[in-house]
Amino acid sequence: MSAFRRKIYNYYLELPSQWRGAASRIIGLLPARYKFGPSFISKWVFIKKTEFLPRPEINRISEQGLREILLHAFGTTEFYGSSMRAAGIDEQEIGKDPVGMLKKMPMVDKSVLHENMDEFLSSEIRRVKFDRTSTGGTSGEPFYFYINSDRSAKEWAFMVDQWSRYGFSLSSKRVTFRGTKIRDKGWEEDWLTRELKFSSFQMTDQYIDEIWPPLSTFKPDFIYAYPQTAILLAKYIEHSGKPLPASVKAFLIGSENIYKGQKEYIEKVTGCKVYMWYGHSEKLVLGGYCEQEDVYHAYPQYGYTEFINQKGEDAQPDEKAEIVGTGFMNTVTPFIRYRTGDYCTYLGDHCPACGRNYHIFRDVKGRWTQEVLYGLKGNPISMSAINIHSDVFLNVFRFQFYQQELGKAVLRLMTRKEFTEKDKMAIEKEFNQKFSGSVVVEAEVVEDIPLTDRGKYKFIDQQIMK
Ligand SMILES: [Zn+2]
Repeated sequence: MSAFRRKIYNYYLELPSQWRGAASRIIGLLPARYKFGPSFISKWVFIKKTEFLPRPEINRISEQGLREILLHAFGTTEFYGSSMRAAGIDEQEIGKDPVGMLKKMPMVDKSVLHENMDEFLSSEIRRVKFDRTSTGGTSGEPFYFYINSDRSAKEWAFMVDQWSRYGFSLSSKRVTFRGTKIRDKGWEEDWLTRELKFSSFQMTDQYIDEIWPPLSTFKPDFIYAYPQTAILLAKYIEHSGKPLPASVKAFLIGSENIYKGQKEYIEKVTGCKVYMWYGHSEKLVLGGYCEQEDVYHAYPQYGYTEFINQKGEDAQPDEKAEIVGTGFMNTVTPFIRYRTGDYCTYLGDHCPACGRNYHIFRDVKGRWTQEVLYGLKGNPISMSAINIHSDVFLNVFRFQFYQQELGKAVLRLMTRKEFTEKDKMAIEKEFNQKFSGSVVVEAEVVEDIPLTDRGKYKFIDQQIMK
């Protein structure tokens, strides 16, 4: 997105909702090139032109992306520059054999980046547009980093491309249940993205009763939701006997893994297919199902993905592996050989069902869980919807929700020394506005948040319905 277009888009987002509806109607009529920008179009064309290439050519594409980001990191960041020089790597070697050089480099994880963020920042930061973002709540330990402002337009090209395998097009209409604040009447229409947005925080039978008429009249092609929300909709359909509009082609479900039986249940009750993909805020790996097979296909045009087994080597097909990513999109904080903390079963570098020479994998586990908070009426609220991307957690080292009672939660905070009462109030305000009364959150500063038996941090210490 160009700076100008971005400014307009930000301005559009700040408009009062009644004006936003009218403005989005006008912008919605524009061709994709004007709506989403030239970087969206060129990226999508590139994906379409390359997706069915033979393996050597696919390798060349991902090696070229890798070469560019390695050279960039070598030349503009302190951490990668010095670690590559220490490993005897120079620009000439990167140019000749980027994969060989990558394998000589150490893997990094969130804590290394977090503790040495200045050394990971590219000197390019002075001349490109960037945003501060975070992995927010998905691990209970907020992690802030910097990323190029044009990522959304590029990523949108990948999202549209993968959904197009299930019939999605730029004129498709979506009903969206995500973690966005919904103002006014309980739903919001966005003509720019052709979405009707609902709240995933108030998923009670009463709320679904209220939204069913506008949802049906809208005649969506797709329903975009978290697994828990899709299951609630399926349960509602099963009990009420009200079917989804016949226009719905599929559910689009990302951000969280889906457990065995859940996908089958949604498909059986709603009569619609479920399309899944794997991705994350760091923008290193993105992989969705193909048209034929329910396994993830990592885009070689998006990042260089490694599947590393327990011995620290490249996994063989059918082996369990950690997903390790080197993203091509973020040149402000390059992430190279970044351990995502997500594990999967690696299946190989070719999908026999569709013919794409992409890395394929299934059974993702790790940061991807389905922890929930419960609203006043027992309605589950997905962890991914709770994810906070604002700056309120800057002075928080770790946090965890503790819930004993429906509609109420204590947010435990382990804080940095800069933390003040003002931060505490800002955090409470942020959540209480987001949940709009469905769960009342009270923050509490604690000395320690103990690990689980398996040595992991739990995002939600849930005492209800165990
Ligand atoms: Zn396939």
